[in-house]
Amino acid sequence: MVKEQEFYERLHVSPDASPEEIKKAYRKLAMKLHPDKTSGCAEEFKLVTQAYEVLSDPRKRAIYDEGGEEAIKRVSKILTNPSSQNKPPPSEHSLAVLLEELFIGGRRKLHISRKRTCHSCRGRGGREGGATEKCSSCQGSGVKKMYQQLGMGLVEMHGTCQDCQGAGCVLAAADRCSVCEGQRVAVESKIVEVEIEAGAGEGSKIILVGEGDQLPNKDAAGDVHIVLKEKEHKVFRRTGLDLETDVKITLLEALGGFRKALKHLDGRTLVLHQPSGIVVGPNAEKLIEFEGFPKQRNPYERGHLYLIFKVDIPERIDPSLCPKLEEILGERMEIVLKGDEEEVNLMPYEGQRVSGDREQRWGGRNTPGGTAQDSEGFEFGESDEPPCRQS
Ligand SMILES: [Zn+2]
Ligand SMILES: [Zn+2]
Repeated sequence: MVKEQEFYERLHVSPDASPEEIKKAYRKLAMKLHPDKTSGCAEEFKLVTQAYEVLSDPRKRAIYDEGGEEAIKRVSKILTNPSSQNKPPPSEHSLAVLLEELFIGGRRKLHISRKRTCHSCRGRGGREGGATEKCSSCQGSGVKKMYQQLGMGLVEMHGTCQDCQGAGCVLAAADRCSVCEGQRVAVESKIVEVEIEAGAGEGSKIILVGEGDQLPNKDAAGDVHIVLKEKEHKVFRRTGLDLETDVKITLLEALGGFRKALKHLDGRTLVLHQPSGIVVGPNAEKLIEFEGFPKQRNPYERGHLYLIFKVDIPERIDPSLCPKLEEILGERMEIVLKGDEEEVNLMPYEGQRVSGDREQRWGGRNTPGGTAQDSEGFEFGESDEPPCRQS
């Protein structure tokens, strides 16, 4: 539950709207309300933009949800104060997750390595009260010249000396901490636990505040961003909230109905029941309502599950069965021949069409009512099965 809905209402979205929905809603309103437009309104544009600035930033949005506009006003001073943002950039890790985990949600442990304040010297870089010496890298100025490529030329810039972190002096070599070599931070590995929300997907970001790097010249520890990668699934394909799967059925099942078991991502077994009487054709699509993905942060909203039926049609059939099939399905249409038509062979064909080897492919030809002129020695492969009934 959110404390206030005002900012959401300004953007005409619900409090559980996804970042994309918020972005979309803002774009639409901004287009309409921008003061440059005839439909524009400076005052309303300001209010919408203010709401968007808060709701588009995950950190600010969480604060607003928790404490409303009052809380945003309180922390906006801190948020905009550069010294409070004085933290290292976030470190990004990707985490491959199964579709099942994204469907029901779960927890995962993940190894990360990060720079943290050296335990051995407690971040001092060496022996307490150790002798210092002028930083040789910046000659004691704490600032170093750097060159950056800009267009065709190099531009000279000044930046903080990384060797002394801008202090101008470093601990004497003999007094430096042997663990961090005077760097004051050391690399450590940590196992972090992340919560995968049901409904999350490819590119969903989990932010672990303060679990990232600590650096000597930064006040706060950086964040860790865990970016989810959706693993391909053997059975289900996902598009947003919708799921899709192929269901194999036999020709008899296509004609006469069926009951089929389908194991869903949460382990439930769904029984797909098609009563007899309606034929399910090849690539026919059916839908099971609300068995798709749950929406993140709003599990009551769900997508659908789409089934695409793949009919397994037999490759061969006993010709003696054809009269029986005709009894059931009705007789085949006959064409009336005048005698000057050409009967042609239907050749088995697979793969790419290569016009270059046409001459070899177009071998035998039949004359109406006659036998195949197999003079070029063409092998008929699988198509030489006689039709059920000769005309
Ligand atoms: Zn230096
Ligand atoms: Zn150390």
